[in-house]
Amino acid sequence: MQYRTDKRSGNKLSVLGFGCMRFSRGVAGIDLKKAEQLVLNAIERGVNYFDTAYMYPGSEAALGTILAKNKLRAKIYLATKLPIANCKSGADFDKFFAAQLAALQTDYVDYYLMHNINSLAQWNELRAWGIEKWIATQKASGKVRQLGFSFHGPRQEFEAVLESYDWDFCQIQYNYANETNQAGVEGLRKAAARNIPVIIMEPLLGGKLATGLSAAALDVFSKADASRSPAQWGLRWLWNQPEVTVVLSGMNEQRQLDENLAIADVSEANSVTDSERAAYDKVIEIFKSTDKVPCTGCAYCMPCPKGVNIPGCFAAYNARFAHGFMPALPMYITTTAANRKVNALASNCVKCGQCESHCPQKIEIRRELANVVKRMEPLWFKAAMKIYRAVSK
Ligand code: SF4
Ligand code: SF4
Repeated sequence: MQYRTDKRSGNKLSVLGFGCMRFSRGVAGIDLKKAEQLVLNAIERGVNYFDTAYMYPGSEAALGTILAKNKLRAKIYLATKLPIANCKSGADFDKFFAAQLAALQTDYVDYYLMHNINSLAQWNELRAWGIEKWIATQKASGKVRQLGFSFHGPRQEFEAVLESYDWDFCQIQYNYANETNQAGVEGLRKAAARNIPVIIMEPLLGGKLATGLSAAALDVFSKADASRSPAQWGLRWLWNQPEVTVVLSGMNEQRQLDENLAIADVSEANSVTDSERAAYDKVIEIFKSTDKVPCTGCAYCMPCPKGVNIPGCFAAYNARFAHGFMPALPMYITTTAANRKVNALASNCVKCGQCESHCPQKIEIRRELANVVKRMEPLWFKAAMKIYRAVSK
């Protein structure tokens, strides 16, 4: 494992961080046994940065249980986030933080983030509720070691938030398809210029850059270097940049962990060549022509009161443009349980709008779901599903 130094604290952080948002789930919630195996294996092989959040259902409690049971808390840097969207006044800071420490079975957090600050106005609202005094108290008591924020808004707001406080670190969405989106490369460099670590989320855009590339995009990478997987191209692009400190990956399969660890071992800063850069540019162009909805599958918009599987619908819809209708159709049927009476189809949307304010990517979910219905639910599809339901009763 390679490590990069957090210049603010002196901590040596593994370049690969473990994102706990996507722990594997079964019908009864997080599959604790599977999560434990992966976490233990990751720590054994040098991963020392673990990222979770109050807003990731069951994630803090699962990670806390694993760390406590195996007496590993002191061996890792633990990052979690204050759910600012759920805070209605300054009194809530203590309430949520106490619940988080209890779930994580710890008395301190190494890296604590304001979750999803997307504008200076949002940060100023927290300030009006006394967040700066609250942070100073937690830091003085040692309960919070480093204080940062995660961000999904536009770059100008990122810079305004960045410059408005003496942050210890920040976390941004960044990958080769998002070089100029959200904080982007300019935001990354501005943060690094302040000598604070930058933690990267969505390095593979919710897996789309690993498994969702079209044949044309794969062909470009393959011609440039057939020995590299799409995930390797994606992660290498990030670690090539010395301003990047930790790249979070939401790993829920052993093969993902193995692959990411292998890539982390060999990816060096400033190692991408001009011809490789040209391959990235070509793939970006192709990817942008097929990625119709920039959904990362985070599920912040869920649950939908009408049962629509919003990220599932968008994943199948994007697959339609990357791979064609017939390969995308089974994905749409599976992800929406289209063949069942109670299903999660896009056509169940009643346009209530409840989901949209939660989307960090600012997707117009209602409008895009209407497009999904047009493209994924033609009349013959609806008729076929109706017949299937009737005969399989
Ligand atoms: S707008 Fe549609 S998808 Fe969103 S919460 Fe309402 S019914 Fe569900
Ligand atoms: S629509 Fe937005 S909130 Fe919902 S899963 Fe996609 S990116 Fe996340």
